[in-house]
Amino acid sequence: MAMRVGLLFGGCSGEHDVSIHSAQAVAQALSTAANAKKYQVVPVHIQKDGGWQVGESAQRILASGVALSETADDLAQDDSRDSSTGSLAPTAAALNRLPTREVADIDIWFPVLHGPNGEDGTVQGLLKLMQVPFVGSGVLGSAMGMDKLAMKSAFAQAGLPQVEYRGVLRSQVYANPNDFSQLCDQLEADLGYPCFVKPANLGSSVGITKAADRKALEAALESAASYDRRIIVEAGVVAREIECAVLGNDRPQASTLGEIRFSSDFYDYDTKYTAGEAELLIPAPLPTAVTAQIQAMAIQAFQAVDAAGLSRVDFFYVESTGTVLINEINTMPGFTATSMYPMLWKASGLEFGGLVDQLIQLGLARTAP
Ligand code: ADP
Ligand code: MG
Ligand code: MG
Repeated sequence: MAMRVGLLFGGCSGEHDVSIHSAQAVAQALSTAANAKKYQVVPVHIQKDGGWQVGESAQRILASGVALSETADDLAQDDSRDSSTGSLAPTAAALNRLPTREVADIDIWFPVLHGPNGEDGTVQGLLKLMQVPFVGSGVLGSAMGMDKLAMKSAFAQAGLPQVEYRGVLRSQVYANPNDFSQLCDQLEADLGYPCFVKPANLGSSVGITKAADRKALEAALESAASYDRRIIVEAGVVAREIECAVLGNDRPQASTLGEIRFSSDFYDYDTKYTAGEAELLIPAPLPTAVTAQIQAMAIQAFQAVDAAGLSRVDFFYVESTGTVLINEINTMPGFTATSMYPMLWKASGLEFGGLVDQLIQLGLARTAP
C-alpha cells in the first residue's frame, strides 16, 4: 500500500506563498510513475494566521497555487462543503486547532515550510510530539539554522570563517536615544560601512538592509527591530555568491556548486523572486580546490547545526584574495523546479523525483532505532 505523505505547506510566515510553490513542485515530484506507486500525497495547508486546512480546500490551494480563503468565515464555509474527507467542524473554532482525524494516519510528514513557524523547529517540535517521522532537520537543527546568531556561533565553534558580526536586541534599539547612539557608535567602530542589518530569524532577504552610513544604520536597526527581537549586524563583503546543496543524515553528501549573479545591489527579495533578475550558473566556475573547500565546509556547517535530510549552504567567495566565507545555512531551502537546491542535485545526477524519494527515505531512517 502506498505510504501517506503529509505535505505541510503555506505557513505562518512571510514566506507563505513561496512555500506553496515549493509544495507544488514536491507534489508533482511525488506523482511521477515511480513515486506514485510508493507514495500518496495528503496536502495540509497552514494559513498565514496559523489555521490548518485539509481535504478539498488544501487540494485546491495546491492545485491553483493561491491561498484563496484566509479568513475564519471563509474557512468554516469552505470546510463545511468538504464532506468527502471527514472534515473539520464548520465553525471558526476549527482554526488554530489540529485537524486530528485527517492527520491521524499520515506515515511521514514533509514540512515544505520556509521561514519562522515552519523552518525554525516549531512545526518540527509538533511533529516530533506526534511521534510521526518527518523530512528534514529536527527541532535543534531547524532552530539553529533559522536564527542567524545561533547559526553563526555554531559555525565559529566549528572553525568556519565568516564575516565579522554583532548581535543586537530589539530592546537596545528602543532604548533611550543616548544608549542607542552609543550602540551605533560601537557598531560603526566594529564593523564599518557598508554593513548589513538583518532580523535574526527570517529568510528571503525580508527585513534586510545594506547600510552605507550612520543615518541608514539607525533606520535599518529600527526596521529589523520591527521584524524580530534578535538582530544581527554584519560587516559587508564584496564577493561572489556560491551555494552548495547537502543531502543525508549522519553521512551527508555535498552537491555540485552553483553561483548566483545579479545586477542589483545585493540579493534582495525582488532579485530572488522576479523572473530574470538573477542568473544561476551551475556548476559555479571556480578553481577545483575552491570547489572542494566549499563542499567540505558545507558538510561541516550541516553538522555544526545538527541539520538532517537536506540543507542549502551559502557562501561568499572573495575572488581578489581567494577567501571563502560561510554566509548561512537554510534547512528548508526553496524547492520549486527552478530552485537552486533541486537544480544542484540534478546537475549532480539526481533528478527531482529521485531526490524527493531519498528525502522521504532519510526522514524514515531517522526514526529507525
Ligand atoms: P536570507 O536568509 O534572508 O537569505 P542572507 O543572510 O543570506 O539572508 O542575506 C541575503 C543577501 O544579502 C545575501 O545573499 C547577500 O546578497 C546579501 N548579504 C547578506 N549579508 C552580507 C554581507 N555580510 N556582505 C555582503 N552581502 C551580504
Ligand atoms: Mg536564509
Ligand atoms: Mg540567503
